[in-house]
Amino acid sequence: MSAGEGCRVARAGTAICDVCPRHCHLGPGALGACRARRSLGGAVVPEGYGRVTSIALDPVEKKPLARFMPGAYVVSVGGYGCNLRCPFCQNWEISQAGEKDVRWREVMPDELVSLAAEARRRDPRVLGIAYTYNEPLVCWEYVRDCARLAHEAGLVNVLVSNGCVEPGVLDGLAGLVDAANIDLKGFSDAFYDACGAAPGSFSRVRATIERLAADPTCHLEVTTLVIPGMNDSEGEGEAIARWLAGLGDVPYHVTRFFPCWRMADRPPTPVSTVRHLADVARRHLAHVFVGNC
Ligand code: SF4
Ligand code: SF4
Repeated sequence: MSAGEGCRVARAGTAICDVCPRHCHLGPGALGACRARRSLGGAVVPEGYGRVTSIALDPVEKKPLARFMPGAYVVSVGGYGCNLRCPFCQNWEISQAGEKDVRWREVMPDELVSLAAEARRRDPRVLGIAYTYNEPLVCWEYVRDCARLAHEAGLVNVLVSNGCVEPGVLDGLAGLVDAANIDLKGFSDAFYDACGAAPGSFSRVRATIERLAADPTCHLEVTTLVIPGMNDSEGEGEAIARWLAGLGDVPYHVTRFFPCWRMADRPPTPVSTVRHLADVARRHLAHVFVGNC
């Protein structure tokens, strides 16, 4: 495991994590807010490195990626932890968990890539690995190390992320992510506040999307989960689509919310709302898809 990357030492024994805008100040042995990084020996280390809670073979369309290698399958892998607390999280059992809350097993990068390569031998539609389910970038070093080996094995790398990281993380992954789907949860600081995000997160997510949209080595798609009463206004949908259109031809997914976790008491988003917001987005974008409808 790589230790101490993306961190600073504040005062004696306290380390500052620079992976995401939360910039946790962690005393010796303390766990970061994401529950996947810990302060050890004056550095913040990715404790969740290689700790896999979920692994499955998925069609690439399920990530969702609509315009990247259609028909391909990817070995999808997730760990635990997240730097956000979206009350509507569909994977909250692992995203809001620490090492003692979930069952995990160690799958080091060479083993994961061997698994994916073996899956490809059995089925040539298997073309790569997706880092997904929880927030993979809270242990971005694992993504980097797996992705390097995957490329050496001729496999592609797919990242499914909330995009809420500092630029140094993206520097560390440069040239390694072949396709990404980044969540754009809403289009305001207030929405990101409601997701338990640290101040500045909305700006960082936009910066991540802008950077990946401009990266010729990475295919980018963006997803917004539409939640009744939170981000389902035509004005917000229009603002997102207009902004995305300024970044190029970015495929955009508008997906339907189903009640879960802290929002189990809300009704699902009406299908008509999702379809309407997709039509709104089509005023600006060429490739708009609805999901969960
Ligand atoms: S990645 Fe985790 S430990 Fe680092 S700043 Fe973000 S929440 Fe804190
Ligand atoms: S960013 Fe994704 S994984 Fe994290 S809490 Fe929000 S929905 Fe769940």
